[in-house]
Amino acid sequence: MGTGMSSNRTTTGTASPGEILLCGGGIDSFVAWHYLGRPQALYFDLGDRNRDQEYRALDTLARRHGIRLAVSRELDLGSWELQDGVIPLRQLHLVALACHRADTVWCVAVKRNRGADKSSVTFERLSELISQAVGRQVRVDSPFRDMTKTEVVRWYVDQSLPVDDLICTHSCMKPKNTLLHCGRCVGCVRRWVALANNGIEAPFAEDPWRWEQVQEDDGRHDDQLGSVYGLCIEELQQARSSVGIRASSPEGRLRSR
Ligand SMILES: [Zn+2]
Repeated sequence: MGTGMSSNRTTTGTASPGEILLCGGGIDSFVAWHYLGRPQALYFDLGDRNRDQEYRALDTLARRHGIRLAVSRELDLGSWELQDGVIPLRQLHLVALACHRADTVWCVAVKRNRGADKSSVTFERLSELISQAVGRQVRVDSPFRDMTKTEVVRWYVDQSLPVDDLICTHSCMKPKNTLLHCGRCVGCVRRWVALANNGIEAPFAEDPWRWEQVQEDDGRHDDQLGSVYGLCIEELQQARSSVGIRASSPEGRLRSR
């Protein structure tokens, strides 16, 4: 894959640590690694469209921070990737392989995350099912199940960790062979909201808040929009008000400055 993934980071067959963090290249993964006290991290190269940019970001951060990062190529899920970049049941595939390596598998899902495979109920059921199947106690969980994405970034900022490294992460689901975020996808909207709510500016090819899907709700309520983006209504509204977009009401559409 042209990103310089070093084969000596492939984990298959290495000693199993007590816990492992399923890592992507985004904000949540990077903050989770700090939040959990710098555990062993595992990245699955899934053959999806974001893998080059995602891995480049992760590899840069791993070198800067000394992240013990293992890379697995056991799964090729690219053919199941939907148009919006979502891979259905992605988390289930990853957890099934990660549990061979550790008794605690940390996934990264925030409050109101999209995807039924990243809900707290799913994590509890998975823990039970896998524990029964493998005959030992396995815990599957997210450190951020009760935190919004905005709160996750706030925690990072409160630790006085470098903001530049947060911006170095990769969240875009439509990257177009560049590290610049498009500003026109769900990943970019989520990134913008969490950063803006913490007073952090990050570059986007196009301003996320000018995307009509963020500005106008076509009669949908904000809580529905929150579900679309996997955000809590309050953090979405807070970010929009920071750029002069009024909160929506059932009767009225949103307006921008
Ligand atoms: Zn994007």
